[in-house]
Amino acid sequence: MFSEPPLQHASSVGISIITPCHNESENLSALYTRISTVMKQIGEPWEMVCVNDGSKDDTLVRLLTLHREDPRVVVIDLSRNFGKEAALTAGLDHARGDCAIPLDADLQDPPEIIPELVAKWKEGYDVVNAVRLSRDGESWFKRASAHAFYRVINRMSDVEIPADTGDFRLLSRSALEALKKLPERRRFMKGLFAWVGFRTTNVYYHREPRYAGKTKWNYWRLWNFAMEGITSFSQVPLQLAAYLGFFVSLLAFLYAIWLVISTLVYGNPVKGYPSMMVTLLFLGGVQLMALGVIGEYLGRIYEESKRRPVYLVRQVYHSNRN
Ligand code: UDP
Ligand code: MG
Repeated sequence: MFSEPPLQHASSVGISIITPCHNESENLSALYTRISTVMKQIGEPWEMVCVNDGSKDDTLVRLLTLHREDPRVVVIDLSRNFGKEAALTAGLDHARGDCAIPLDADLQDPPEIIPELVAKWKEGYDVVNAVRLSRDGESWFKRASAHAFYRVINRMSDVEIPADTGDFRLLSRSALEALKKLPERRRFMKGLFAWVGFRTTNVYYHREPRYAGKTKWNYWRLWNFAMEGITSFSQVPLQLAAYLGFFVSLLAFLYAIWLVISTLVYGNPVKGYPSMMVTLLFLGGVQLMALGVIGEYLGRIYEESKRRPVYLVRQVYHSNRN
């Protein structure tokens, strides 16, 4: 009988920190300093995988300087801006650690929490979510809309997507490998993280305002992100469209009965025009809306069916990788 060789990790990297960077040059040196201080305390071998997501400023130059000074900084330069989710995917694909921690470059996710995440991982958890207790530096409207978003998506979706958890979390190697198996091109990472499951626990922290630079999210992008999340993880809008159609036809049917009866009882002085227009427009609107919902999903199928890669790498800068 052959016995399976034990699963071995050729890597000597314990912890991979994954940082997507899009125009973050002002944040990078502070980020590196804080991370290396924290990692020194932990004492595990580590790497920092920085993904340059088509930055227009000198982010790449600064990353390469860091890489030259400290070979633990690995730089992945994407061919253009692919968006945060794709950049994060690229980073996770290149991580060699026994666990991976996605962390924003703007220091909104304080690296000082990493020891707590790692401690939970060592207790045996596969996924450790860093849950925000507060959101400093964010407007009332942004907080309220985020809250509403989580309520809606969790009602509509079978996967429980934890509120107030960004991408900042720890994933063990097995959770990471599971995540890498998910084939979708359009990646709503928060949802995918939740979908893979595994033994999960939480750690709580206070979210800081951005260290420098501006957020790339305006309300239109946030709205699209929310729609992305809902259409990735729920088919309820499709069902709603059907129910709405059914409800409207029912109303129309009742109205028709009432019309017949009233014509029989009161006769028919020609005055149906306004009601006709109302019905027509209403039905037209409902149909367009339902078509729009179907179109949205159809678009997703189209996009997935093209099977394009999630990101393209221009160059990977690393030292002595196996
Ligand atoms: N980011 C990226 N590509 C983009 C937009 C953002 O890699 O197209 C990175 C960005 O550099 C940061 C992280 O994603 O490290 C979060 O971005 P941001 O701080 O703008 O988002 P917010 O914290 O407001 O959600
Ligand atoms: Mg941020």
